[in-house]
Amino acid sequence: MAAPFVDTARITVRSGNGGNGVVAFHREKYIAAGGPDGGDGGRGGDVILTVDDHMSTLMDFRYKRKYTAPNGQDGGGSRWTGKDGADLVLKVPRGTVVRDAATGAIIKDMSDDAPFVLCRGGRGGWGNQHFATPTRQAPRFAKAGLPGETRDVILELKLLADVGLVGFPNTGKSTLLSVVSKARPKIANYHFTTLFPNLGVVYVDEGTSFVLADIPGIIEGAAEGAGLGSDFLRHIDRCRLLIHVVDVSGSEGRDPIEDFDAICSELERFSPQLAARKMLVAANKTDILTDPSLLERFRAHVEQKGLEVFEISAAAHRGVSELMRRAARELQSLPPVEIYAPDYVAPEPQVDTSGEVRIERYDETWVVEAPWIQRLIANVNFSDFESRNWFDRILRQSGLFDRLEEMGIQDGDIVSLYDLEFEYQH
Ligand code: GDP
Ligand code: MG
Repeated sequence: MAAPFVDTARITVRSGNGGNGVVAFHREKYIAAGGPDGGDGGRGGDVILTVDDHMSTLMDFRYKRKYTAPNGQDGGGSRWTGKDGADLVLKVPRGTVVRDAATGAIIKDMSDDAPFVLCRGGRGGWGNQHFATPTRQAPRFAKAGLPGETRDVILELKLLADVGLVGFPNTGKSTLLSVVSKARPKIANYHFTTLFPNLGVVYVDEGTSFVLADIPGIIEGAAEGAGLGSDFLRHIDRCRLLIHVVDVSGSEGRDPIEDFDAICSELERFSPQLAARKMLVAANKTDILTDPSLLERFRAHVEQKGLEVFEISAAAHRGVSELMRRAARELQSLPPVEIYAPDYVAPEPQVDTSGEVRIERYDETWVVEAPWIQRLIANVNFSDFESRNWFDRILRQSGLFDRLEEMGIQDGDIVSLYDLEFEYQH
């Protein structure tokens, strides 16, 4: 049995923490006390997604579900900066939609070539080399790095194809794709030969081409999870046009009208929008037609639904170029492939400010440390006004400033929080 087909996966990704800055002082023989030379921590690695056109499934993500980018290294003495954590690049097939696992909201549609940073690595902490000022010549503090982010996401493959082939297994979909494009899908005379989607480019006339997708066959009851169907149907979700391939030869004792209706109701049950999509009907295997009246009844049935029937033989290459030209013509008047806009809104992070806060005073500098402040700072985008305001609000509400006042902080003193320093103003 072939490996199970995977077009959706839930993974956890984590970017690296920033390395810590260190406290060190320059030492040389005979020199009593040198200047501060503690180096900075390195940046944590990002988790980055990129599209790889050689991939056609999310299979790899089934076997490995946790992805962690390395942390930045701590700094060292002699201004030695810790190494940055390497970015972790995850390759996904084109058309992979990334969703937030908790809400299902779309974070990103990986349909173009731009890499996407899914989790940012934490910034490295500064070593004490940075904290020397005229009044603070021997800073005995350095900063811890900031934490990376963790995200649970769902990857979902929704092919970027103009035209999707649908139909029962063994009706000749893969054969058709192989005949009209350079794609070489597996073709065999048994059901479920196609376990992975295949894409092929169809060149119709000079300058006219489209992408055709052969998706694994769907089976009856599939939309309700009885079989493989709904997984497969998800693939063609954004195809602009469907070609429904039906075996009308009667060679397997199947009734093409029943087959046709069964697939249509599967589509309907999975997604009424998909079922409503423009559809051309390919009556295939006409080269081995056993009963011409079967084809005529089929034609009447389909045309009665307002759809057009194309008699073809994929194997004998008959009627296929007419069908492809017609598909190209239909596409001209259909909307482009839908790219999903992100609708994920980051929830305002919940910050529990009740944890212990360490305050140390070095002359006019107040060094404040707490795990919650570390997390808070990692969540702030200091170039964004709203984000800075939010940060300020949380700090105020936490009672930190009241405590500093009690300890005797003066206006103009420096408050030093991780990679942030500001002058205190009452
Ligand atoms: P799929 O499961 O829909 O992808 O079907 P395949 O393309 O794998 O074809 C299933 C079987 O039908 C294979 O043995 C093909 O050679 C055969 N087949 C496909 N198209 C035709 C056709 O037009 N005429 C005949 N006689 N056989 C065909
Ligand atoms: Mg096939």
